[in-house]
Amino acid sequence: MPFAFDNSYARDLEGTYVRWSPRPVPAPRLLFLNRELAAELGLDAAALDGPEGAALFAGNRVPDGAAPIAQAYAGHQFGGFSPQLGDGRALLLGEVVDRHGRRRDIAFKGSGPTPFSRGGDGKAAVGPMLREVLVGEAMHALGIPTTRALAVAATGEAVYRDTALPGAVLTRVAASHLRVGTFQYFAARGDVDTLRRLADYAIARHDPALAGAPHRHLGLLQAVAQRQAALVAQWMNVGFIHGVMNTDNTTISGETIDYGPCAFVEAYDPRAVFSSIDHGGRYAFGNQPHIARWNLARLAEALLPLLAGSDDEDAVKRAVAEATEVIDAFPALYRAALLQGQRAKLGLQRADDGDAALAADWLALLHAHGVDFTLAWRRLADAAAGDDAPLRALFADREAPGAWLERWRARCAAEDADAHAAADRASRMRLVNPLVIPRNHRVEEALAAAQDGGDLAPFERLLAALRRPFDDIAAHAAYAQPAPAEVTAGYRTFCGT
Ligand code: AMP
Ligand code: MG
Repeated sequence: MPFAFDNSYARDLEGTYVRWSPRPVPAPRLLFLNRELAAELGLDAAALDGPEGAALFAGNRVPDGAAPIAQAYAGHQFGGFSPQLGDGRALLLGEVVDRHGRRRDIAFKGSGPTPFSRGGDGKAAVGPMLREVLVGEAMHALGIPTTRALAVAATGEAVYRDTALPGAVLTRVAASHLRVGTFQYFAARGDVDTLRRLADYAIARHDPALAGAPHRHLGLLQAVAQRQAALVAQWMNVGFIHGVMNTDNTTISGETIDYGPCAFVEAYDPRAVFSSIDHGGRYAFGNQPHIARWNLARLAEALLPLLAGSDDEDAVKRAVAEATEVIDAFPALYRAALLQGQRAKLGLQRADDGDAALAADWLALLHAHGVDFTLAWRRLADAAAGDDAPLRALFADREAPGAWLERWRARCAAEDADAHAAADRASRMRLVNPLVIPRNHRVEEALAAAQDGGDLAPFERLLAALRRPFDDIAAHAAYAQPAPAEVTAGYRTFCGT
């Protein structure tokens, strides 16, 4: 048996899902297998890297011990509430406790229609599933909580979007697939019993220290707020734009999920939007912390019956007040997480009152001069080592960063003890300021080669570079370069996933 399944969701949460089977596909072929992740899950990667693995990861052979289910969930999409979304093209196969003792979901995406498909075909195309691999592995290597791709299998079947595309199934590994939208689904139906079972399941899985406590549901809300604050702060510190932060794409675990119309900022701009469907800029780069808070408010609303414990007017009032306090505290949680990350990126080890302003002024400088976000941070490490030239070369006016650099140097000097301080700072900064991120033009280039010509070599080369984001490796140098400005200006990501 390849997977040692132990399916707590199917076992404990009857009534929140539909048992369902993946639809067999004509010609399974393995395009990607994550050997490192397979080993973590206790799988024999060598045994899976062939026709058997292809049949398994395409959904043609359901592994022993799996209990495939389509999970119910609702969600606010671009602000509007859909009471019934659910796994329209995904299935949870089951859970595995990994080598580190962590329970992980094993799920398919693109495995055929389910009762939640709402007229959709239940399928996925090769390009978007390989995008999940590239961006998910990049995020993982950057140290950002994320779902990860275990495998991608081509189906040998066409998927019809604007044109016919080759089809694929992704196998995704997640800390869980519980979303804000999962709670919304049962709250919207007034099904408080199921809501409670769900919340207690989430607590057992993600916040076991709260189990059985009288105020555990408020504790859950607080814990999710803390995780989302930390997550979005990490996104902001690497320039990641999720693109579709709907409540059904907001996890309880605090992992990033669903790499659809996502992108990374090139020239720093808080207003950056790349998604073709985000007309109002709701999910613009700089708006993400506000949206995270908004999504948490939706979770608070869904949990309200549990927080109040009864319909009693005073109990409800008190619950609303407590929940509001948690939501109102979110911006401070977020700012603290952001600043902690920024201090590390600036090479600072101690806290000083002026640090937030120092970081904000640095970002304002990058914005004013349209400087590449990732390279600017990285070259600040060179400046820490004493060489300003590579950083100044990013500015059309090389004098532009001068005044800020002086301030930063003075701030650094205030905490430097010995002669090694500068070199130590530069090395620390290179461990948190990546050189290689999944730049949009490189991702597109790799996906186009895979999807159009079946050539996986660009995908594999890019993946190798993304797995070493902090290392200065000559063979990866081209991946560190920004896209030509005209490419970025016209860049749009499509949700036609
Ligand atoms: P997403 O934008 O991928 O987070 O998906 C939002 C909702 O649309 C989820 O309920 C999905 O299951 C559903 N969905 C997306 N694409 C398809 C598809 N091709 N067929 C059926 N359902 C889909
Ligand atoms: Mg989704």
